Amino acid sequence: MITQILPGIYSLRIPLPNNPLKYLNSYVIKGDSRSLVIDTGLNRRECHDALIRGLDSLSISLGSVDFFLTHMHPDHSGLVPELKTETTSIYCSVEDAEIINTPLEWGKMLDYALSCGIPETEMQQFGRGQQSIKYGPKGKLDFTYVKDKDEININGYKFVCISTPGHTRGHMCLYEPEHRILIAGDHILQEITPNVAQWEENTNPLKQYLESLDKISEYSVDLVLPGHRISFHNMRQRITEIKKHHKDRLLELLQVFNTKPLTPYQIASKIKWDLNYTDWEEIPLAQKAFATTEALAHLTYLQEKDLVESEYKQGMYLYSSKGKFLSVNQLNL
Ligand SMILES: [Zn+2]
Repeated sequence: MITQILPGIYSLRIPLPNNPLKYLNSYVIKGDSRSLVIDTGLNRRECHDALIRGLDSLSISLGSVDFFLTHMHPDHSGLVPELKTETTSIYCSVEDAEIINTPLEWGKMLDYALSCGIPETEMQQFGRGQQSIKYGPKGKLDFTYVKDKDEININGYKFVCISTPGHTRGHMCLYEPEHRILIAGDHILQEITPNVAQWEENTNPLKQYLESLDKISEYSVDLVLPGHRISFHNMRQRITEIKKHHKDRLLELLQVFNTKPLTPYQIASKIKWDLNYTDWEEIPLAQKAFATTEALAHLTYLQEKDLVESEYKQGMYLYSSKGKFLSVNQLNL
């Protein structure tokens, strides 16, 4: 499905089979000599065919296409190695480009997950279902790095790169100031809350993400073009809703502590997840691993705010509350 958004700017709906996100929105800026495709879909036949069909019907040949990746996730980057030609430029932040070319080592990820209390069976199940392994970009890519405030001019449009880390460490949006449109990747979505998860030590993705929400709300935006689901107009209202979601989650987390220190996995099992299950035990194993990394991002945020503390004991991270009275305002969101 192709939709024209503005003259020369189109969105293509790329199906994501067996994925709750349902489809990816790939955006195409058609230029005279070169065109820009923003995000591609997974490295699988259904995505490939939909993207090629879309470009064909816009009379755009692959030889004239450059790519911009909002971030490294496989549903955004997977097809690039397959579609690039000798003349293709691939724009991406240096942080996410590095992860595409040197993915996190499974062994390292597993060790950290185990120390957060995620059982190995959960992680094995998670590993098997990982689309980045099956459908991610294959082989190393030669990137053109973009950073905050860089501009990409095409077909009379001026797109400004806005660095918005959080969903991934190098996530980028594209902003067109004259038409006030924001190509948002997975930074802000309607209907679903972008995933913010922690997979490594010494990072604070939720802090980055909330700061990136504040940063983007400074821009005047009339239309948000997200990576998934529908486009929307009321960006600031959506930002307020997403921030409320995280604030509620942080407060909920602070309620689950009892006297005994808990692993992130145990904490995740005590909070309510927006999944179609009534009981933690019914949640599929891979989803439990995901939920734990999301809970962990929130715990790290609370720890930096000095509201919880953690200790490393016998190979496990254990968290406990610092017992401080907390009002909503103290979270300062
Ligand atoms: Zn993503």
